[in-house]
Amino acid sequence: MRVSTATSSCSDSRVFTVVVQGYGVAQPRTAERSINVPFSRLQSLMQSISQLGGKVISVTPASDAAVAPATPAAAAPAEKPAPKAPAKPAAAVHHANVPVNLYKPKNPFVGTVTENYSLLAEGAIGRVNHITFDLSGGDPQLHYVEGQSIGIIPDGEDANGKPHKLRLYSIASTRHGDNMAGNTVSLCVRQLQYEKDGETINGVCSTFLCDIEPGAKVKITGPVGKEMLLPEDEDANVIMLATGTGIAPMRTYLRRMFEPAEREKNGWQFKGKAWLFMGAPTTANLLYDADFEHYQSQYPDNFRYTKAISREQQNAKGGRMYIQDRVSENADEIFAMIENPKTHVYMCGLRGMEPGIDEAMSAAAAAKGLDWAELRPQLKKAERWHVETY
Ligand code: NAP
Repeated sequence: MRVSTATSSCSDSRVFTVVVQGYGVAQPRTAERSINVPFSRLQSLMQSISQLGGKVISVTPASDAAVAPATPAAAAPAEKPAPKAPAKPAAAVHHANVPVNLYKPKNPFVGTVTENYSLLAEGAIGRVNHITFDLSGGDPQLHYVEGQSIGIIPDGEDANGKPHKLRLYSIASTRHGDNMAGNTVSLCVRQLQYEKDGETINGVCSTFLCDIEPGAKVKITGPVGKEMLLPEDEDANVIMLATGTGIAPMRTYLRRMFEPAEREKNGWQFKGKAWLFMGAPTTANLLYDADFEHYQSQYPDNFRYTKAISREQQNAKGGRMYIQDRVSENADEIFAMIENPKTHVYMCGLRGMEPGIDEAMSAAAAAKGLDWAELRPQLKKAERWHVETY
């Protein structure tokens, strides 16, 4: 194998031609392909080739023109040292600008509830509400990006007379907020209820939030989390696997991708493929369903929406239909998407879905002679496999 990345300058503008054998969906093992790739994506391409059993024949600068420094300043490396090449994949770079812990539990921001309404249709099980807080007036301004969480400290005290501890909730609104003014945050909260000694126990914070009235003041911390951030690449593909209120981050991604006001404001025009798998117990429990149906009708080439309605549909074995069953039904197609280095997978909700999803992916990988147990950590390392499950 011939590998040459040597040039006089180390700027991001370099483009390389990778000649590879047996790489890509439905490629015979002997087929050769040339792939032009910017330096920033070279590492993830090499990882993907090695994951998928391809053989790199050569890596060479794409052409003199592509390698040539773009600016006169960069053309004189002897006078001005070239910037260092990024050590991490491009996806990691923007994490540096993500706000974290602007407000901590000792000094939380006090937001005001602006609305609180049920997300469920008649006949649904339990309570799930969409709750919005006004964040105006903070110093610093409490801001966040899609995929982060905030903490809520419920009013009152615990059984020991101490103030309640904070609970984390995935943010359900984009950085612009539902009103597009950039000064609100929304959550999607299920009231936790369980039986103990024959008694129904209501979750402290989820009940506090589901019951709260507009105008009430609420202590908010954060934002936190860098696991579920979207790639900046407009051509990325995004596979989303959500159960119940795990839909919160997915709603932010889909609004960012397909909501007209968002597209106008965010200067980010998603051009890839997004595929949402949503698990809910009944049709009445589906969350934000009309919005997602609408996006699918408006962007049929870019968005696909697949539901697993556990108590109304059956899987192939006659059991409850869970999202891992839908993943299994579509495993080859999902796996083919994952073979593309631009594809990211996001999982949020119940931890119980993870083994089933691994099983489906293992079978799809094995059909291609690949080992999912080896592939998955590599996807994780490449920051393409994002999991937040409880
Ligand atoms: P829900 O409305 O009750 O829906 C959950 C769905 O998942 C139901 O269809 C349920 O089916 C199904 N399900 C149950 N066991 C499953 C399994 N092993 N594998 C796959 N699907 C399964 O959901 P929810 O009450 O909102 O619960 C969502 C969970 O996500 C909660 O545990 C919450 O804490 C968590 N969550 C995590 C985050 C995060 O990590 N950032 C954010 C939000 C929510 P059946 O009930 O019919 O069996």
